[in-house]
Amino acid sequence: MRVRFLIVFLAVAAGPLAGQAAAPATPSDPRLEALKRELVADIDSRAVFTQQMVDQIFSFGELGFQEFETSKYLVALLRKEGFRVEEGYAGIPTSFVATWGSGKPVISLGTDIDGIPQASQKPGVACRSVLVPGAPGHGEGHNSGMAVNITAALALKKIMERDKLSGTIKIWPGVAEEQIGTKAYYVRAGLFNDVDISFFSHVSSNFGVSWGSQDGTGLVSVLYTFRGTSAHAAGAPWRGRSALDAVELMNIGWNYRREHLRLAERSHYVIPNGGDQPNVVPQNASVWYYFRELDYPHIRELWATGDSIAAGAAMMTGTTLDPVRMLGSAWPQHFNRPVAEAMAANIRAVGMPKWSAQDQAFAKALQTDQKTEARGLVDSLGSALGGPVPENQKRGGGSDDIGDVTWTVPTVTLRFPSNIPGMPGHNWTDAIAMATPVAHKGATAGAKAMAMTMLDVVLTPKLVTDAKEYFTNVQTKDTKYVPLIRPEDRPAIELNKGILEKYREQMRPFYYDAKKYKTYLEQLGISYPTVRASDGSCGSSAVP
Ligand SMILES: [Zn+2]
Repeated sequence: MRVRFLIVFLAVAAGPLAGQAAAPATPSDPRLEALKRELVADIDSRAVFTQQMVDQIFSFGELGFQEFETSKYLVALLRKEGFRVEEGYAGIPTSFVATWGSGKPVISLGTDIDGIPQASQKPGVACRSVLVPGAPGHGEGHNSGMAVNITAALALKKIMERDKLSGTIKIWPGVAEEQIGTKAYYVRAGLFNDVDISFFSHVSSNFGVSWGSQDGTGLVSVLYTFRGTSAHAAGAPWRGRSALDAVELMNIGWNYRREHLRLAERSHYVIPNGGDQPNVVPQNASVWYYFRELDYPHIRELWATGDSIAAGAAMMTGTTLDPVRMLGSAWPQHFNRPVAEAMAANIRAVGMPKWSAQDQAFAKALQTDQKTEARGLVDSLGSALGGPVPENQKRGGGSDDIGDVTWTVPTVTLRFPSNIPGMPGHNWTDAIAMATPVAHKGATAGAKAMAMTMLDVVLTPKLVTDAKEYFTNVQTKDTKYVPLIRPEDRPAIELNKGILEKYREQMRPFYYDAKKYKTYLEQLGISYPTVRASDGSCGSSAVP
């Protein structure tokens, strides 16, 4: 890794290369280059620390708004490292803002920490093998981002302290990202008021960064609750008015309307409350919708359509509709060009991690099992820099509430290579690599690119100026940020409470004990990789 770093680094530092997607944003500076080499060596020396964070947070496997163990662990760790920590930020119990340093530039460093329902899964086992049946787990890989960010921050802090460099680092968790639940509230609470540049990290199977408007959606996540009248469902059904009928008619109405919506929209729902039991006419029932679209006006339009269908369903059933509860929201994402270009140059200098034969065998076994192309892990970098997606090529897709941050301050998301390509997402298959050498090596590589780019920001005032110039004169020239959350909305901190109350004590015996075990795989007694044998078996307790 180090040898490769030096070779690529010298090549980049020598000047713009033919065929290079973009030149480094900062001109060659021997001091900066020397400090970056120092950062890389320091982050390599912290590989065990990084691995332990990845494994620890994986083992907590907490859902959005219930990340209490994760938050407690991170707060203690950051305090020990000299950060000032404000807990319960923006009225969200599992949130915090950890600050170190002083003066300009102020750098924000965020990443998500929450998991996926029913994604409990033994890591390193390439077939379905649950730790705690029914329990949540890290079926997206949000256990790895904090390891990237904190490792990067500590390496940079060491240099800033020694060389007395001005600058402030603010670390915060993306609480309840799967509910798109918090970042708009962070913006509203003023977390980014003094921030110059905002960095975000997110797990991927590749290593890269993008600028401009992305293919993906923004959304509102809203709860419709109907109120009816209970009655004996057999004895006097004419006395009742069913709130569940209203939920069902709303869904039928929405599914008919769906044909006449724009192709880019995505919308989906679940019924968290469908009544109590069949012989009691349901007096209350709720349906939870995600309405996704490409831009703010279209999100609002989709939401208004949902509201009118809900009102119609209430009229048809003689029920009433509660005020619509906002559970989460996200703006579409737009990333900063100069900072993305600087980060891409650093990603190229770091290069992809060196995967072992076991890592590749593991990935290929899972891909084969999942009937997707057995191409293994990504081992070559590509350009590392993505550009804007033209409006007419946008096809919708996922969201992340980092979108709200990207419209508040110049922001980029580092995608670091810690997972296996070709998986469906939000699924146990996305969890199996996330406490193995694949995630560990990817997090170390990600930390290097993150730390190097943060150093670029600290030592290159022009990068900050260029970033702000892009933000003001290009990105927000014609589009102004208006929050999707309304003044009366509050974070939906009640979400997932019941699930964690049900499973936490069963999950606790599986928390990683870094004092006793080198890795989580070692603690669980898993031989890595465990893959399906020719007789169909897969380790000791896997289910087919
Ligand atoms: Zn995510």
